[in-house]
Amino acid sequence: QPIAVQMLQNRHACIGANLSVSYQTPIAMLTAYETYMVDIDGRHFLDMVNNPMHVGHNNERVNRAIFSQFERLNTNTRYLYENLGSYANALLACLPSSDCVTMSTASSRPHFAVCYFVNSGSEANDLALRIARCEAAKHGRKGTLVLSGGYHGHTTALIDVSPYKFAGKGGSGCPPNVAVAPVPDSYRGMFRGPHCAQAYVQELEKAADRLGSQFGVFLFEAISGCGGQIVPPKNYVRNAIRAAHARGAICIADEVQHGVGRTGHFCAFESVQLEDDESDGIELPDIVTFGKPIGNGFPLGVVVTTQALADSFASNGMEFFATFGGNPVACAAGLAVLGELKEKNLMAHASQLGAYLLSGLERLQANHACLGNVRGKGLFLGVEIVHAVAEPESTTPRPHRVLARYIVNRMKDQYSVLLSTDGPEENVIKIKPPMTVSMRDAGYFLASLDRVLGEGPV
Ligand code: PMP
Repeated sequence: QPIAVQMLQNRHACIGANLSVSYQTPIAMLTAYETYMVDIDGRHFLDMVNNPMHVGHNNERVNRAIFSQFERLNTNTRYLYENLGSYANALLACLPSSDCVTMSTASSRPHFAVCYFVNSGSEANDLALRIARCEAAKHGRKGTLVLSGGYHGHTTALIDVSPYKFAGKGGSGCPPNVAVAPVPDSYRGMFRGPHCAQAYVQELEKAADRLGSQFGVFLFEAISGCGGQIVPPKNYVRNAIRAAHARGAICIADEVQHGVGRTGHFCAFESVQLEDDESDGIELPDIVTFGKPIGNGFPLGVVVTTQALADSFASNGMEFFATFGGNPVACAAGLAVLGELKEKNLMAHASQLGAYLLSGLERLQANHACLGNVRGKGLFLGVEIVHAVAEPESTTPRPHRVLARYIVNRMKDQYSVLLSTDGPEENVIKIKPPMTVSMRDAGYFLASLDRVLGEGPV
């Protein structure tokens, strides 16, 4: 019996059935390097989708940092060790400050001043929610506002603020004290085109009205990831944060999926605002969360916030401790990732390669009507697969889940390219490769996709 079949059977025997595997024919992986993964038969796959391996699979610098720290010392944050503070400082220096559109500088007043270390994106969002709700409760507010299609993590509290999970597929519906505003989807949403930001901000105001004086927390992704790689129209993120702040709410930017430089700036909320009509700095959230890429696969999550919120959270003897969060090995991994990002100039690389991929996809779109919309920032891109002909009386593009799945499977089977789909209709092909992806890889990906799309009707 082939080993992969055996693995699948063992898995089915003892792993919950709601943990699905990628692809119709799952791959049994053996090893990986840079932008490639290798299966047990020695087949090499070009990885265009696994964003946690941010600075490359099996990155030597990150591996060395982890192994050598592990050999020396691993313990918890109740002891003193050097790299906790140095990592926190290095990370805070990557975040924007209010009067500056790129990195904090020594002269600018830091807005983000405190880090909390945990073990995953879910834990980071859960803690962020706790910090924000603690503060909001001091003002008698219990309501949380989120965007449709959003996913923020697997804890019980986070499922309740993740419409991606509670709205469909066995979800229990919108919980009390949660309001959902429509994600600003300018392709298939209720308002279309490049100038619909204000209309979506008004929808956000309406959703906030439903919470009324209870509105305390606004949790959002600058570019909706699981929701379908939805790039907001310009001015949306800035004005959404302003609207929430004007009502006294605390804003949490979930950067778990697209943060740490993928969009060309450290945070995606910077990247999107840099294209706004205003150019005098950016509107900052109060809390930012990181996960997935920040440890290059080593379990690490971070919550970053302001001194004021951190002080408030620490008042009345409120404890915070996570056994493994920010341990010396995690900090070593995090520092090595930041080092790679800087020394290899990977944020600029992401902008450059992202622009190349986006224009290549736009060229394919001209020949293949099923590519309804291509969008993205840096190396965070989405391709919306739709039925080539909209229904006669409708101008709404119809999502084509089956074709999207076919393309993803075909790209893997025929061309050894790894992709996957997302969005509530599972028709958006997501492209978020390790940041080490080369121009050659990107060219191969585009040529392969062109061939698959040219195979004719499915
Ligand atoms: N936030 C976002 C935006 C995510 O996409 C995810 C994971 N898909 C999470 C949080 C949770 O991260 P994790 O599964 O690593 O806990």
